[in-house]
Amino acid sequence: MTLILNGVAASQAIKEQIKQTVTQEREKPHLVVVLVGDNLASEVYVKNKEKSCKEVGFMSSVKRYDSTISQEALFKELDKLNNDKDIHGIIVQLPLPNHINANEIIDHIAPHKDVDGFHPLNVGNLHRGQSSFVSATPLGILRLLEFYSIDVVSKHVVVVGRSNIVGKPIAALLLNANATVTITHSKTKNLMHHTKQADILIVAVGIKQLITEEYVKEGVVIVDVGIHRNDDGTLCGDVHPSAYALSSAYSPVPKGVGPMTIAALLLNTLQAFQERGR
Ligand code: NAD
Repeated sequence: MTLILNGVAASQAIKEQIKQTVTQEREKPHLVVVLVGDNLASEVYVKNKEKSCKEVGFMSSVKRYDSTISQEALFKELDKLNNDKDIHGIIVQLPLPNHINANEIIDHIAPHKDVDGFHPLNVGNLHRGQSSFVSATPLGILRLLEFYSIDVVSKHVVVVGRSNIVGKPIAALLLNANATVTITHSKTKNLMHHTKQADILIVAVGIKQLITEEYVKEGVVIVDVGIHRNDDGTLCGDVHPSAYALSSAYSPVPKGVGPMTIAALLLNTLQAFQERGR
């Protein structure tokens, strides 16, 4: 029987645990989202983050800036947030306007408040196998596998995609967890040859339903990170449903990795709060 890796159930369990922890604290974790300009998709993401913070008893605020703000002025605003001891986590919502260098902005976030795990110090610590903030989607994937007791030790994990926010960090995280990891990408020859060897297949490619039944072996665990909107308004992933039948477990889209990303962000914010002042 095929197991469905239900991200809603797993994220609810994590949120419940966080809520319990926060109830016992006098001070509350405080997440700040920096939003520059008026990108519609970003507004939706930010609203979801605020809603989730409220659910677990966190404080959250959104710092809104006009799309014409200069990079220098944004640095100064980040300095204020970095130095505010009542703020524990900072996220800069991407994308930023073209005149602002996103990497330089991320580099300016205090690493101990970088709950997105994008700062080079956190990225470096992850690759050294040291404690760090890990970007939310990869951390959410690991937690989803843990929730369903899927052991990764010595498993062959094949990751499709090498982005800085999903592919590379999930590969590093699973390597740290003693999996054997293969990373594939747009220049990989014969992708199918690699994906067919996967015990666990993690797909973060951004191509609608690329991975069909021909790409997988029987019994594989499939984690589908992709999100695409169909013409009829429904959502689908990077994996075609034909691959599900061969799998022993798969994460659906929606209700798979998506909710876990938010749960992981909350976990990172709680960690930042608990480690404050250290
Ligand atoms: P990206 O575009 O930054 O990276 C895609 C990667 O796929 C690249 O590394 C590229 O080399 C690789 N690739 C492209 N074509 C390929 C091919 N034919 N064969 C093999 N590899 C190929 O994307 P991303 O930011 O990693 O996101 C991937 C998908 O995941 C998108 O659909 C995105 O919307 C989704 N996403 C979901 C969440 C979530 O919370 N569920 C979070 C982040 C991203």
